[in-house]
Amino acid sequence: LGPPEKKQKLNHVQTSYSPKNVSKGSSFEELRDARRALPIYPARQKIIAEIRKFPSAIVIGETGSGKTTQIPQYLLEAGVNSGATIAVTQPRRVAAISVSQRVAQEKNTNIGGLVGYCVRFEDVTSPATKLKFMTDGMLLREAILDPTLTRYSIIILDEAHERTINTDVLFGVVKAAQRRRLKTGQKLLKIIVMSATMDVDHFSEYFNKAPVLYLEGRQYPIQVMHTKEPQSDYLFASLVTFFQIHKEAPAGEDVLIFLTGQEEIESGVKIINDMARNLKDVPELMVIPLYAALPSQTQIKAFAKTPPSCRKVVVATNIAETSITIPGIKFVIDSGMVKAKLYNPHSGLDLLKVVTASKAQVLQRTGRAGRESPGVCYRLFTESEFQSMSTNTVPEIQRCNLASVVLQLMALGISDVLTFDFMDKPAPESINSALEELVMLGALERQSNSDMLKLTPLGKQMAAFPLDPRFAKVILLAKEYECLEEILSIISVLSVDSVLVTLSSKRKECQQSHQKFMSSDGDHITLLNIYRAYKSVNGNKSWCFDNFINARNMHTAQEVRKQLREICERNGMTFSSCGRDSTPIRRCLAAGFFLNAAELSKDGDFITMANRTKVSIHPSSSLFQCKPACVVYTELVKTTKCYMRTLSVVDPDWLYEAAPTYFKRKKAAVIS
Ligand code: ADP
Ligand code: MG
Repeated sequence: LGPPEKKQKLNHVQTSYSPKNVSKGSSFEELRDARRALPIYPARQKIIAEIRKFPSAIVIGETGSGKTTQIPQYLLEAGVNSGATIAVTQPRRVAAISVSQRVAQEKNTNIGGLVGYCVRFEDVTSPATKLKFMTDGMLLREAILDPTLTRYSIIILDEAHERTINTDVLFGVVKAAQRRRLKTGQKLLKIIVMSATMDVDHFSEYFNKAPVLYLEGRQYPIQVMHTKEPQSDYLFASLVTFFQIHKEAPAGEDVLIFLTGQEEIESGVKIINDMARNLKDVPELMVIPLYAALPSQTQIKAFAKTPPSCRKVVVATNIAETSITIPGIKFVIDSGMVKAKLYNPHSGLDLLKVVTASKAQVLQRTGRAGRESPGVCYRLFTESEFQSMSTNTVPEIQRCNLASVVLQLMALGISDVLTFDFMDKPAPESINSALEELVMLGALERQSNSDMLKLTPLGKQMAAFPLDPRFAKVILLAKEYECLEEILSIISVLSVDSVLVTLSSKRKECQQSHQKFMSSDGDHITLLNIYRAYKSVNGNKSWCFDNFINARNMHTAQEVRKQLREICERNGMTFSSCGRDSTPIRRCLAAGFFLNAAELSKDGDFITMANRTKVSIHPSSSLFQCKPACVVYTELVKTTKCYMRTLSVVDPDWLYEAAPTYFKRKKAAVIS
């Protein structure tokens, strides 16, 4: 992607947009005043009273009205929690962290005291914590150890409209905990569901006809512009639009750009910085990336107030749609796209793919422009493209691989997953294929005298890891292959976002620099080489910089590794290393990832063994130029083609040894 040409303009046409509520803004000087100025403030007594009265309640309010930061504080201040902890769940770790930090500030305490957060691989709470912001995944893990969630008196399920898999499962788990406490005469568990937009009747019905509290929003008028023609390259279009704004609008009017993922955002940020350097007579520019994988210190930058001579541009994923509110935004540029996980139970593939956003998402994005004053939203798609978008986002549970969730449900003691009280049931085929996968991985087995499946001791161990069941299996297998240290390093690096930096302006240099880590055995060994090199220089930052390695992500990987190692210790595993020999590692990967194997066919393409789908090696792979006979991969990405990303060369015999029955059956199917 090259920089946009200077004179090029996109044709935007104006269409009408009528905001629900228009009122004057107030200047927020102190945090306390800011709290009192929030739209939710006048309703606080009513909210407290209603929540006191009913076992469950649903709260609807526009993004920024103060639901997440205020309601937990109101309940605490009014003592509705009866001294116990209030849990507030978030689908995203970024939101859990940033919101808890904000609330700690408002309460004038240090984070980890009265107010804390708990996300995967990071627990910043203490016995004093009464307001605990956590990812929905973490609460789900707690429920495995304590199904009635005894330590909480109130559970707030926030951002319910996002309908992530974990939120959907939590609905059922928390509802069951409430019922169980009632039956056994324990203290009541209050459930509060909060959302920016949602199918209210559906939620209210599910939570035993819970009352719905609507909050007044505050929204200034927003001018919405669509492009005249469909855009073939939304990243390019977003940059052109941004520079149009940047040249015309005064300093202090900030811009929020919605793109889809880390790589795209980083490359957008880079281009904006490069281009802006050559511009004269424009405000100074602060360019801030915002996506889930960023470390929290970096994310906090997005909330900083812009100096008067400056313009802030935040380049974000859908994370900035509803879960966090960025102050100062006057212009929104919406690509209309989102990265989503999609699963096809017939093909068994979970794909990460950039897809068109839903109308609900687009409307949320537009709303971000009118929080503090009238704003403008540039949509990089036509009005008729907008009309053809689906109304709502399909719940994740109906489109993703359920193996991880099903394993967790089994670990929760819910053995009949097919009849679990889901708000929207996933397709039975999806549940069945997840069950089948877990049986093949050895996590589940049939009970001797019935058709029911039960958790095996291996499955129980697997459930202890906050990882995809296949990764958990690989770790547990590493004992046998005597390469646990190496596998832990590889999986830790795989658990964070890309550790390789590729700058579009220095593509050659980056590639050359990365070359020395590349292994002809595949990307897993390449990642191991990087981890080893990083360790050998003690995480030296300038080494990372010189070698185009992302120091932040490497640091996170090291933290992740520590935690995984702790879980292994708790499981009583012995730590072993295979030294320089990569064979045990690849055997171990083959044994855990036999479901993700592909072989080279006669015509030079790769075919997956699971379902005979044509796939290719991703250009970023160290095996891109090679034609190994057989590989296992950890991810599939679909762009123009279906690509395997992060793969290793394996011997087909290793696969057969790991899962003889499975491959015999596959072979028979191919022959017939
Ligand atoms: P809701 O949950 O209804 O979307 P929030 O409680 O998250 O609203 O936010 C209320 C207000 O608090 C926001 O409009 C914003 O002004 C402020 N706010 C929230 N988080 C932060 C933060 N991390 N930094 C600065 N201001 C924040
Ligand atoms: Mg919120």
